[in-house]
Amino acid sequence: MKVLIARMNHETNTFSPVPTPLSSFGNHGPDFGADAYRANKGAPTAMGAFIDLAEGWGAELVTPVSAMANPSGRVDAGAYDAICQSILEAASGCDALLLDLHGAMVVTDIDDGEGELLEQLRQRCLGVPIVVSLDLHGNVTEKMIVNADIVTGFKTYPHLDMYESGRLAGSIFQARREGRATPVTAWRRVPLMSHTLKSATASPAMKGAVDRAKALERRDDIYAVTVMAGFALSDIPAPCVSVIVVGKDHATAQEAADGLARSIWQQREGFIYQSAPLRDSIARAKAISNGADPGPTSGGTPSGPVLLLDHGDNCMSGGTCDTMDVLQEAFAQGLRGIAVGPICDPEAVETLYAAGRGATVTLSLGNKRAIPGRTATPMSLTGRVAALSNGEYTMSGPIYHGMTFCMGRTARLSVDGAEIVVTEQTQEGWDLGIFTCVGLDARRSDFILLKSRMYYQPVFLPLARGYVECDSGGVTSSDYGLFTYTKIKRPVYPFDRDAELGF
Ligand SMILES: [Zn+2]
Repeated sequence: MKVLIARMNHETNTFSPVPTPLSSFGNHGPDFGADAYRANKGAPTAMGAFIDLAEGWGAELVTPVSAMANPSGRVDAGAYDAICQSILEAASGCDALLLDLHGAMVVTDIDDGEGELLEQLRQRCLGVPIVVSLDLHGNVTEKMIVNADIVTGFKTYPHLDMYESGRLAGSIFQARREGRATPVTAWRRVPLMSHTLKSATASPAMKGAVDRAKALERRDDIYAVTVMAGFALSDIPAPCVSVIVVGKDHATAQEAADGLARSIWQQREGFIYQSAPLRDSIARAKAISNGADPGPTSGGTPSGPVLLLDHGDNCMSGGTCDTMDVLQEAFAQGLRGIAVGPICDPEAVETLYAAGRGATVTLSLGNKRAIPGRTATPMSLTGRVAALSNGEYTMSGPIYHGMTFCMGRTARLSVDGAEIVVTEQTQEGWDLGIFTCVGLDARRSDFILLKSRMYYQPVFLPLARGYVECDSGGVTSSDYGLFTYTKIKRPVYPFDRDAELGF
């Protein structure tokens, strides 16, 4: 048996001005051929699971590509073509296609990147089983489902079960080959644009839905059930929640999908994040810091800093990593002792490098990436260049532990009230290394400002006294009213409070 195994992952935020050329995938472009195999063999990805399973079957493996890019704007058509062509050409003559996809890829000229690829594979490889593992933030379409045989997805966010999702899909395929299963995939979309913060494993409505999915999976006639939270920061017809069920026949799978979709609809309010005005969030941070408010967390460090979480500008969802709303409001309310996580501003880095370490500079910082519909001017700041660094650090926390990351040339700007890390590249606020690489021990500060919504947790929560979520006006804001949706199919919740489930 000859098995194709490939990975194509991108969560597209169509409102993000951050471009997605081919070089955004991987370190300097996707891994092709043997490099794609090496990148995933032993890795906790769905493709890693596919490789382990197929090797167990004694199959001949074909691994044309592994392409993963952090979330950003629409994928360049040329990049998409290069990745898809490698898969399409390698697919000919294969007996099964095992694909590690995201589900929310939008291309310059194609709204449904995965659906388009799957349709072309189906046409080229008639009768060949197509097995797919998706990210739970995928926006499922009819095209994806009809052009695949078995579809599963992650059940956790942060995503800790990528491998398990791949193994489940591959195992169902194996059972089909051995005549032990007759998998058929059905799905149901819920007209609900969820908020990413509410798709977390610990979020009650999401947890309830995933628990019901797991209970369904224990039935003999159902092989896999996935709750897809979707990714709403995408101007496509339906960036919505959906349910995918693989069952022994269509009627069984559809009935289970419909039942779960109905229960999610009943709990729809639990998938909607309630934003607080930024002014209130900063005031609360101040109150937590001076002990007037116990804050929402326990189990941290009572003497530690308070986290200011700027989830409206999170680069792991397409944020520019350069909006300044939170720091401006913090200064306006008199907060001091703030360690500011990466602000991506290559121009400012250039200025700080030219001035040199120890120099005093006045510069304009942040708010430089044009965001449609938003007018914000850079902050004018005067401070000292406290440190310069190549921006490399090694992850100390559990996520990507031991791996080295690079933020490009990095400077530490010391201003009255804050120590600011300024970088050439966007970077998630997920590790103390983003501060230590410029000699800053953020644990000693009163506040830590991070452009993070989820990945800050393992490292920063334990050392913090508390946290506040700060809704800034970046391209990952939870306020969908900030964005111009032109393609979305109405009615949809929460835009239309009277929307109906429709089936
Ligand atoms: Zn995801």
